Amino acid sequence: MSKKSISFVTDLEFCPTCGTILPLPGMDDYVTCKLCGYKIHVQEFDGVKITSSIVFNRPETLQTNAEEGETSSGPLADRKCSKCGHEKMSYTTRQTRSADEGQTVFFTCLNCKSQEIEYS
Ligand SMILES: [Zn+2]
Ligand SMILES: [Zn+2]
Repeated sequence: MSKKSISFVTDLEFCPTCGTILPLPGMDDYVTCKLCGYKIHVQEFDGVKITSSIVFNRPETLQTNAEEGETSSGPLADRKCSKCGHEKMSYTTRQTRSADEGQTVFFTCLNCKSQEIEYS
C-alpha cells in the first residue's frame, strides 16, 4: 500500500532529469534544478507540490506510530535481504529537506535484522 506512495513522492518532488530534489519556488517564474539546470514553471511545480504533500503526509503519520513500538512492526516492503535472502523487509523513510539530498529509506530484514539504507 504505502510502498507505492514512496516512488510517487520521489517522482514528483525530484528533478525528472537527474533526480535531484527541487528547491522551493523563489521570486522567479521558474524553479531551476541546482544540478542539471532543468527548469520547471512555478505554476506546474505548485500543483505537483500540493499533490505530493497530501500523499506524503499519510505514511509519515503511520511511521511515527510504528516507531513507538518495535522497528520490525513498521510497514513492509517486498525487498530481498542481501544477507539471508529473506524477501520481506520493514522500512522507514526520512525526508531530508536540504536541496542536495533526497529521501532516505531504511530497510530492516525481518529474518536476520540486517539493515540496508537506500538513497533516492
Ligand atoms: Zn536536475
Ligand atoms: Zn536477512
